[in-house]
Amino acid sequence: MRLHVEGLTYSYGEKDAVDQVSLQVERGEFVGLIGPNGSGKSTVLKNIYRGLTPDRGSIKLDGENLLTMPYKKSALKMAVVGQENEVPFDFLVEEIVAMGRSPHKKLFDIDNVHDKEIVHHALEHMGMAHMAKRSYLNLSGGEKQRVLIARAIAQESDFLILDEPTNHLDISYQMQIFDFIKRLNVTVLSAIHDLNLAALYCDRLYVLKNGKIVLQGTPEEVLTAEHIYEVYGVKSSVSIHPVTGKLAITYLPEALQNIA
Ligand code: ADP
Ligand code: MG
Repeated sequence: MRLHVEGLTYSYGEKDAVDQVSLQVERGEFVGLIGPNGSGKSTVLKNIYRGLTPDRGSIKLDGENLLTMPYKKSALKMAVVGQENEVPFDFLVEEIVAMGRSPHKKLFDIDNVHDKEIVHHALEHMGMAHMAKRSYLNLSGGEKQRVLIARAIAQESDFLILDEPTNHLDISYQMQIFDFIKRLNVTVLSAIHDLNLAALYCDRLYVLKNGKIVLQGTPEEVLTAEHIYEVYGVKSSVSIHPVTGKLAITYLPEALQNIA
């Protein structure tokens, strides 16, 4: 077991944003966290990547208590591509990606040839090598996101935490990024907005609603028309796609809802 979350509870104020969430991710799995806006996906992930500290519950990474692990050690094990991508100063693209190397280094170490190669390869993988000298703040949303994924790759940890990583991207980059992450063969826990993408790429899913996990299982077990209606209040038609062999979900406009 790579990640073991038990009874995770967190509140920003009075109401629990995340209430007794338990989940597991096995080595090599691609696990999706889905659920409506405000259901607690980002809060769960932030507690796991140490952006927030749980009120209650335990989080173990590779059998060790993550909450007391030195930050550098956890950064060597897990890389994060979060949802808010605010970078406070204007860095060059290659500088942002080089930040992924910092857990591998001591204070005041400068980047060596090996680091530079890793940074270059990560940018190349994301099709961003030609933009290495560009200023990060002037990039489009999609380009920024690809740079942040390159930074996570340069970090060379084999567990990726992603919070709706393709939200600002058009469909070709959405597919490209998920295809790329899948090919990395690392362990992944990702919040995913789009249920069709979740069905295409995830081995297992957890569904959050009002801060609680209400469903879990394979995409086939979780993404039934009944469940989608229960969680999102939307009628849909779910079938197995003849080419992908995966579930394909079509949302039904009101006029067609009585037929399905
Ligand atoms: P999701 O990622 O599924 O959209 P979030 O984890 O962002 O959900 O939010 C869960 C709940 O916590 C929501 O009700 C949201 O309004 C609330 N929330 C999120 N961030 C904050 C914050 N910084 N301060 C107060 N409430 C917050
Ligand atoms: Mg979110």
